[in-house]
Amino acid sequence: AGLRAANDARSQGDVAPNDLEAWWLPFTANRAFKRNPRMIARAKDMHYYTPDGRAVLDGVAGLWCCNAGHNRASIVAAIQAQAAELDFSPAFQFGHAGGFTLASRLAAMAPGDLDHAFFCNSGSEAVDTALKIALAYWNVRGEGGRTRLIGRERGYHGVGFGGISVGGIVTNRKFFGTLLAGVDHLPHTYSREHQAFTMGEPDWGAHLADDLERIVTLHDASTIAAVIVEPMAGSTGVLPPPKGYLQRLRQICDRHGILLIFDEVICGFGRLGHAFAAERYGVVPDMITFAKAVNSGTVPMGGVLVSSRIYDAFMKGPERTIELFHGYTYSAHPLACAAALATLDVYRDEDLFGRAKRLEPVFAEALMSLRGLPNVLDIRTLGLVGAIDLASRPDAAGARAFEAMDRAFQDLGLMIRITGETIAVTPPLIISEDQIGELVDKLGRVIRAVA
Ligand code: PLP
Repeated sequence: AGLRAANDARSQGDVAPNDLEAWWLPFTANRAFKRNPRMIARAKDMHYYTPDGRAVLDGVAGLWCCNAGHNRASIVAAIQAQAAELDFSPAFQFGHAGGFTLASRLAAMAPGDLDHAFFCNSGSEAVDTALKIALAYWNVRGEGGRTRLIGRERGYHGVGFGGISVGGIVTNRKFFGTLLAGVDHLPHTYSREHQAFTMGEPDWGAHLADDLERIVTLHDASTIAAVIVEPMAGSTGVLPPPKGYLQRLRQICDRHGILLIFDEVICGFGRLGHAFAAERYGVVPDMITFAKAVNSGTVPMGGVLVSSRIYDAFMKGPERTIELFHGYTYSAHPLACAAALATLDVYRDEDLFGRAKRLEPVFAEALMSLRGLPNVLDIRTLGLVGAIDLASRPDAAGARAFEAMDRAFQDLGLMIRITGETIAVTPPLIISEDQIGELVDKLGRVIRAVA
């Protein structure tokens, strides 16, 4: 009742104050949020707009997904046209042009022999799909003893049981029982002592990949199905891979016949200046998970790019037998496919991946100018990704970064993200140099304000 009374006094745009109660927001401090909600009504290009019409510069591409910016006319038109033509089509035992065309296009963009795409609806589903394909692959290959999955500390792979099992964030794991059995973790790759204020890939840390050899020695390679890592860990505070780390991981996987999965839900589609981070590092994994920016966040979609070696192994049994007992009602949803095809056109026609690459040094220099501000412990940049670690208040972990995010939105018209003690900025790839300046200027003001 107290919450309702407080909200009655305030305009919430189109939302009746009592309607603030029912929605249980994900990964949100609901009670604090509902006392002073950060409401969004519209979006266009680089901006969100609040119900009362304030422009908010989007510093995080929504949630690392709107890489083409917001409400792009050609993407909106493609979704509308698709809805009017074919609203839904089942992907179990039936097909439609959008799914086939999109899969071919993604395969053409992907490195190496990643020539097949399996579709789902989110990054979490993409991860669980990739893990299941890895396990089933070893079964069809007659090596069903390979069941162990290797993740990494501080990894984020969504919220399915597979994803939180291979993930390495204690708060996402500790409330949910025993998780998947037979999972080990590599050490994370961050060291403030060795890496602070690095632009791009840090020099220190490639040797951490060697821990996979320790795990192999402990369990034997014949029990290990796959290793999954984010090329750049995003949601746990932006941890760029040390120089040579991913290459070394690939070598060790090859030595022991272990599948390597790159979770590119954040890195894919231009965030690091390439279609996929795999390309940036010259490392071809056996599977790539994707989601988010595949259609610039407009319609839920995720998927897994799978190597021909894996796909072909499944295609050997009797022809009228289902090869993989897995899939979702909304796999390759026609609206999501249409949105993705239109989005890939925008990326290509506007050379947005090349743009991200060209802007990388400008963005990095601008963010590094915040070095020396109060409480700034470290700044990391890679592609169009930046992170600032703030010293936390002694009594509450991450409190200062939380306050910075709130003040940025409410007072300065800037959307940023926090994870723990880290502020992350990952703007749409259409950001201009002036807007980079504006973003960094506002960040500086906010950091000083919460000092
Ligand atoms: N994998 C990575 C690397 C992610 O960053 C995320 C989300 O941020 C996910 C998986 C989960 O994606 P979703 O929230 O779409 O389930």
